[in-house]
Amino acid sequence: LSDRLTSVFTNLRSKGRLSESDINATAREIRVALLEADVALPVVKGFIENVKERARGVDVSKALNPAQQVVKIVNDELIEILGGETRRVRFAKTAPTVIMLAGLQGAGKTTLAGKLARWLKEEGHTPLLVACDLQRPNAVQQLQVMGERAGVPVFAPEPGNGVGDPVRVAQSSIIEAKRAQHDVVIIDTAGRLGIDTEMMQQAIDIRQSTQPDEVLFVVDAMVGQDAVNTAQAFMDGVGFDGVVLTKLDGDARGGAALSIRQITGRPIMFASTGEKLEDFDVFHPDRMAGRILDMGDILTLIEQAQRQFDEEEAAKMAGKLASGEDFTLDDFLQQMMMIQKMGPIGNLLGMLPGMGQMRQQIDQIDDRDLDRVAAIIRSMTPGERAEPKMINGSRRARIAKGSGTTVGEVSSLVTRFFQAQKMMKAMAGGMGIPGMPGTRR
Ligand code: GDP
Ligand code: MG
Repeated sequence: LSDRLTSVFTNLRSKGRLSESDINATAREIRVALLEADVALPVVKGFIENVKERARGVDVSKALNPAQQVVKIVNDELIEILGGETRRVRFAKTAPTVIMLAGLQGAGKTTLAGKLARWLKEEGHTPLLVACDLQRPNAVQQLQVMGERAGVPVFAPEPGNGVGDPVRVAQSSIIEAKRAQHDVVIIDTAGRLGIDTEMMQQAIDIRQSTQPDEVLFVVDAMVGQDAVNTAQAFMDGVGFDGVVLTKLDGDARGGAALSIRQITGRPIMFASTGEKLEDFDVFHPDRMAGRILDMGDILTLIEQAQRQFDEEEAAKMAGKLASGEDFTLDDFLQQMMMIQKMGPIGNLLGMLPGMGQMRQQIDQIDDRDLDRVAAIIRSMTPGERAEPKMINGSRRARIAKGSGTTVGEVSSLVTRFFQAQKMMKAMAGGMGIPGMPGTRR
């Protein structure tokens, strides 16, 4: 996904404004990118419409360039779809709060039960884990291991009692929770490899008999497009209030998060990021958006775009820099204005070898000074600007008078110019400026 988006934003860079055709071209690219990331088609359509709508309303006079504007719109839109602020667990008014986990086998329910228990315990709760997966032989034992690691007791059917009834176990666990004063009950349930009516009915029965405050749908983020169908089936079957994405430590593409959220309307509440109990956090929509967009790369791109902004001017300047000799007062003024206009990009220039000192010199000049410097230079004859060596005492007095400044200011400008020129020559003589066209290395 990020590679595709990268090329989208590369195409956008350094255009003056976002036209309708820019928006459409970009929308097409983003559409393909999202589909490739396994986002469901209806979700992609809605997403694209919203991005287009927002892009049209964007005030192009703002400080951001078109590429930055699009990044921001796409990012904002992603965060919004992913749920804005994280929703917290709803606790029951009278204990115990019942949290039921549902999802396919291998989704990570049992692991999540342990993680939730540990997390709730740390938040000051007294959870009880409940083993209602009586389908697989080892399921109860697996939950007991989790409970041990989390330091949380596990409620399970007596061993040797034959195959227990998960609904009865769930009901008894709530009585036990009240007796032993557990304020939260976490019910681990059975899953199947595929959607299955018997399994779904069991989940529905557990739900009806325990009236959970939260039913959480646990889904493996690695499964991509299939996650949508599974989510829909669980939504139609047992129903759920929130989503937990697991295995986000893998290279899941993030498309599932977007689709599930959009199609079920249920918030993604937690993220599982590994097999250890600590590999767990509340879900952060902004981080997920960043993951889907790979903002790191794109921000780098924005910087590159900024650097290439005004490429002509930069190239022209680079030519002067390379020769050193031809560097005139006109260039000096132009350069100062350019660096000032570029703002933060000027700082980037400042990071190039040699340019740091130039930047320092220019930083000593504030806006008002720059006006005065401009006035001084404009009061010079073209000959003086091209050959500042000729600016002697009487010329300085004339220039000061013409520009409404003092002889001292004129002298200090001329001195600064000679320093800059000397630096230019030194640079031209050896290093050149990497990345600047027209300079030697
Ligand atoms: P269940 O069948 O839904 O109860 O799933 P389990 O909790 O038994 O997990 C299935 C497998 O996935 C186990 O091997 C877990 O260790 C592993 N697992 C669960 N959550 C994560 C996760 O967030 N990241 C990784 N890498 N593995 C996980
Ligand atoms: Mg399990």
